[in-house]
Amino acid sequence: MSGGVSGGRQPHRSTTYELLEPEKVAAYIDARPELADRVDTSSLDVTEVGDGNLNLVFVCQDGGGRGIVLKQALPYVRLVGPSWPFTPERAVAEARAYAVHGRFAAEYLPAFYGFDAERYILAMEDLTDHRVWRGALTDGERHDSAAGDVGRYVARVAFHTSLFGVEAKELKWLTAAAINPDLCEITEDLVLTEPFSGADRNWFQDELADAAASLQTPELKAAAGELKYAFMTRAEALLHGDLHTGSVMVKDGSTRAFDSEFAFYGPIAFDLALPWSNFIVTMARDAVLGREEHGAWAATLFEQLWDAFEAEFRALWPGVVDPRVFNEPFLERWLAQTQRDAAAFAATEAARRIVGLAHVPDLETLDVEPRAVAGRAVIETVKRLLLDRPETAGEVSAIAREEVARG
Ligand code: ADP
Ligand code: MG
Repeated sequence: MSGGVSGGRQPHRSTTYELLEPEKVAAYIDARPELADRVDTSSLDVTEVGDGNLNLVFVCQDGGGRGIVLKQALPYVRLVGPSWPFTPERAVAEARAYAVHGRFAAEYLPAFYGFDAERYILAMEDLTDHRVWRGALTDGERHDSAAGDVGRYVARVAFHTSLFGVEAKELKWLTAAAINPDLCEITEDLVLTEPFSGADRNWFQDELADAAASLQTPELKAAAGELKYAFMTRAEALLHGDLHTGSVMVKDGSTRAFDSEFAFYGPIAFDLALPWSNFIVTMARDAVLGREEHGAWAATLFEQLWDAFEAEFRALWPGVVDPRVFNEPFLERWLAQTQRDAAAFAATEAARRIVGLAHVPDLETLDVEPRAVAGRAVIETVKRLLLDRPETAGEVSAIAREEVARG
């Protein structure tokens, strides 16, 4: 783990490490004692499956049906190439999250087999028998335990990595060690600023130009500012940091959060908000496709996730480290604020999926006309979440239902 504090900056490490290639994976595994026994490298089949912009992902399966996955951070943005450097230290953040979260919520993560800090390679459980939740929701699948599982995962991590579960001075060191400035900057800009300020790299359908412009009012900018301020100052717990539905894999009876390279100490509401924002997107897609039953089911996910989070958090509360002032009335206020903030953070994440740099296939795969209808419904939902400030998961769902029904 990198932990050196030198002039307030992380030491710059080499970006000239060797990148993995499929033909070299078996030898790499053989050379690492923590990996060598997990697969039979003499019968290994290796496929590079990375669909992201930043990392190499190798699925490695042997003739006996055993597998592991290796994920290596590239020192540049894959889409652009070496001319756009990007810190591979994010793999350190991902390794830290797997290690720490795994102590409290192992059943909701891929098993973590180790981290090669010289070459920024994570080794983990092969989850190819799962599918990415975003794709499942886009296809109209139902995975009934997924939202509750995500809520329980966030609750466990939130409690055990925060002031509620960690002694105060130890917490300060953990918070400092987990800073992740380059990845946080992406969220600060793409999610919490640019949908509301405008930016050259924003893009959206021509049909949605007026909707995009309608986000740039002083009131909405101030709301974004308030959330950005909370994101940048409220170091509550070691978040996943990027818990959208593309960072969750599902299979019946199993839910796993992965790709935690944005992990840092931030506001717990943010981890609840990202799945919520995607439920809004799913409802908008379902509405324009006439998938009423799936849309009605998706509308229940906000409360399923929140209720599971709240129940798990309350169950852990008797173990609170400092009960002198963190008492029951405090807990009630904290839960209420967290639920309110989740609604507002969800709005910012939903906005950027319509007008920001990074859109989602849930909507981009629709035909032009329904895509514009769905995008407009999301933007109208965003504005009401930021201006009306609903207090509960149920109210968020009700607002989204009303707005997608208008289309
Ligand atoms: P990136 O951060 O570059 O997007 P991800 O961690 O999201 O990388 O992985 C990219 C893709 O690789 C995922 O969407 C998934 O399809 C696949 N993948 C990642 N980890 C695993 C795993 N443990 N098991 C199976 N497939 C995986
Ligand atoms: Mg990623």
